[in-house]
Amino acid sequence: MRVQNISVDRVGDASRLSAEVVFETSLLGTKNVFYEIPAQYESMWDKSGYSFYGASLLLAMKYKEAIHIETPITSEIALKLDILQKTFASWYPNEFSVVPVEWTPAEECAVSRKRKRAIFFSSGVDSLHTVFRVKNFKEYAYPDDEIFLLPVVGMDFRPERADLVSALHHYTTDVTRWYNWKSLPVCTNVHWDLLSEDHVSWGSAAHVAALASVANALANGFDCVYLGSSGHVNRLTPWGSTLTLDHLWATGTLELFHVGSECERLDKIREMSASPELVKNIRCCYYSETSNPPNCGYCEKCLRTLCALEAINQRHLVSDSFPPIGYEKLCSLVAKTEIPLRLLHDWGTIGTALEEAQEKTKLAEAVRHALKMAPRMSFEKRVTKFFHKDISSYKYRGFPLLMISSGVRRSVSGSAFPIASRNRCAFIFKRKGP
Ligand SMILES: [Zn+2]
Repeated sequence: MRVQNISVDRVGDASRLSAEVVFETSLLGTKNVFYEIPAQYESMWDKSGYSFYGASLLLAMKYKEAIHIETPITSEIALKLDILQKTFASWYPNEFSVVPVEWTPAEECAVSRKRKRAIFFSSGVDSLHTVFRVKNFKEYAYPDDEIFLLPVVGMDFRPERADLVSALHHYTTDVTRWYNWKSLPVCTNVHWDLLSEDHVSWGSAAHVAALASVANALANGFDCVYLGSSGHVNRLTPWGSTLTLDHLWATGTLELFHVGSECERLDKIREMSASPELVKNIRCCYYSETSNPPNCGYCEKCLRTLCALEAINQRHLVSDSFPPIGYEKLCSLVAKTEIPLRLLHDWGTIGTALEEAQEKTKLAEAVRHALKMAPRMSFEKRVTKFFHKDISSYKYRGFPLLMISSGVRRSVSGSAFPIASRNRCAFIFKRKGP
């Protein structure tokens, strides 16, 4: 795999950094990858090609292609690529292999300070919490640093969704206006045309590779780019974005900083409630068909967010950004929701907070019920996928849950919501033996 024809061109009012990524031995052929920003910021482009190599690393590993890096790189960057490769190959041995990297050493040179920092911005809970931190904690930036928000079109949704693009820019403008920051909208095809789900899993592997490639492409403009965490540091499991790996994706001259992994989602929302304007702007949903309201209110992520807001008595803040759902209706939706096993602890924390809150008993019970059902639902889904047969209507008791990994069993038994999970876990172990 190599990168060629790196160029910067004008496309209307935008400046486009593009290159061809050539996969020489697999069927992938040549992929054209681009990033676009407003032309006034054209000087921010890093034309070294680091961004394209980082973006393509997982594909080279997947299709066992040696990587030829023609631009000289520092030994630090070579080391980062080596650690990333070995980590992903050990996490997903059936999917990724360590491949040789051919590189020539660059001279170490002092990097001048840009006095600019940026935050990846999607208006979800993690990115809004990062905004809150950078705004309110002086450790995150020097007083004379300019702060930019980076809304990236082409990551969570396709550029053709004009309503979502305009809503994202609208939310970004709100925050930049309140805090006197700047916005640098980015558009890229790195997700859809390079790291598509056909080749590599977006959530469990590729999404930070794609985001980091955007940051690396802008390495002439920023000292540091902040990225909101999506998981707690106590539960580091194989996932695209983790505290331990994210900074390694900064293969250019800037730093990539992972923010908030010491907080549960509930803690983030509680912390942000000191700035109600941020909570009002939460856009956490992937399924909403409209931008008004931007959250469907029915998917697992929307329900988790609404329950967290209920636990801290702040649901009234999001009355414009979620559909109106009464308390009773919310309880019945939560009881039926399918909780992914990797989110048991997150939900458990919210369930405990609801138990401790006043007059939230019914919602706490609904969360407990959903937690109890989660391992079974997950098991049914796996069996359905494996045998291509829906078994959800079958009466069964005592299937050996061998398909649930030890990591998942650990997360079940370690849940902060023990009433549901420990009973369930006992059931799993009881049934597992011959
Ligand atoms: Zn939703």
